[in-house]
Amino acid sequence: MLLVESDALIASRTWHRQRLHLVLSAMMHFADELRAEGFEVDYRRARTLVQGLRDHREDFGFGPVIAMEPTSWDARLMLERLGVELVRNDQFLCHYDDFAGWAADRKRLTMEDFYRWQRQRLGVLIDDDARGGREPVGGRWNFDHDNREPPPRDGRAWPAIERFELDEIDRAVLDRLPATTFGADPDGTWPVTRAQALIRLREFIESGLALFGPHEDAMLAAEWKLAHSALSSSMNIGLLHPGEIVQAAELAYRRGVAPLNSVEGFIRQVIGWREYVWGVYWLWMPHYRSANVLGATRPVPPAFTGVADTEMACVASVIGHVHDHGYAHHIERLMVLGNLALTGGVDPAAMTDWMRASFVDGAEWVMLPNVLGMALFADGGMMATKPYASGGAYINKMSDSCRTCRFDPKQRVGPDACPFTTLYWDFLARNAEALAGNHRMARPLAAMRALSNLPAVRGRAVEILDRLDRGEL
Ligand code: SF4
Repeated sequence: MLLVESDALIASRTWHRQRLHLVLSAMMHFADELRAEGFEVDYRRARTLVQGLRDHREDFGFGPVIAMEPTSWDARLMLERLGVELVRNDQFLCHYDDFAGWAADRKRLTMEDFYRWQRQRLGVLIDDDARGGREPVGGRWNFDHDNREPPPRDGRAWPAIERFELDEIDRAVLDRLPATTFGADPDGTWPVTRAQALIRLREFIESGLALFGPHEDAMLAAEWKLAHSALSSSMNIGLLHPGEIVQAAELAYRRGVAPLNSVEGFIRQVIGWREYVWGVYWLWMPHYRSANVLGATRPVPPAFTGVADTEMACVASVIGHVHDHGYAHHIERLMVLGNLALTGGVDPAAMTDWMRASFVDGAEWVMLPNVLGMALFADGGMMATKPYASGGAYINKMSDSCRTCRFDPKQRVGPDACPFTTLYWDFLARNAEALAGNHRMARPLAAMRALSNLPAVRGRAVEILDRLDRGEL
């Protein structure tokens, strides 16, 4: 078994320490597990993956090399060019060839349609009905109206997770992380072995799942994950299979451990959203990664990269979670970081790249559709039916940040105006022409045109963007 650490890949980005540590440590633990099972393992550190493969062939001869289909477009091209035999990737429930079959001849690829197709074909949360047919458990496909509650203000204790003690391999990897990495040191949050990942799964099913649904969109500064599962990194590096996670979640519902709204909402994330994102990545690459229909060119704000402090309490809170854990949950990513990048006009490729390097679960296949498509609308609506732009009102409703912020989410002009609120209106004005054909944007565009103080708002936006670029906001 050949495993290669590529120096070039390690040096290619400013990685979060916990992200790089997770991947390297998990690889080394996996190598040890393979050796323990009797495999001969060649673990190499090489300048590049190609060099590692060449060196291996020189040392061990030119036998056939077999790999599972990798998870990135470029890696697949490279392995094909090298003559590596690829076997079907089995880390997902829907292979991208099957997704392409589902997508063929459809006018619009909606996640909800895909999700229902997945539920039916996989038999997840499906019951026999009285007429001998099959129907979704509870009579509905989607229980979101029971979810998405604002954050509870009762100071409750959120489900705790076990921190795994760093072993010899973990410590050795930690010692050799490059100085260019950023963020807090690993503290045993992210499983590096399958055994640890199974503990994280059991914890979530027993104590997190029941709370997940109602609070999946809430944001609290003092709670980095609330009732989110923290399983994405384990799924994305292959320590857990989505099938076993979904099975455990459904069983929790059938046994009365967790309510249907939570279980259905969670399962939708796993077999719906995650697999949909995987499918569209392969369907739309390689052109997709250069999409930028709104012509956004601003660099990633220094407030995100940690180069500068920020006065925006919501951004400070989310960036704090990223620094401490290499993680922020989906609404923090979409409605705080993504929202500011969208309304501020941040270059989609730069933003995608930064998020890929900063999150423990980052990978091109997951970040491109989520960041470039969903958050930044750079694909013009292939992923989302409208841009997910919002002012400070949404953040004020769904988080506790505005209470401590020096800005006022209701104000759009003046020194106390919330940057999100100002930039929301400026975004609409700046992109009015590009968004004119989108019927879901007709109302917001009309509201923007009706603003009596639009020139003052746009003047304040210039000031905000300038300060954002200079790291003074
Ligand atoms: Fe964020 Fe604006 Fe609320 Fe401050 S007022 S926390 S910048 S949304």
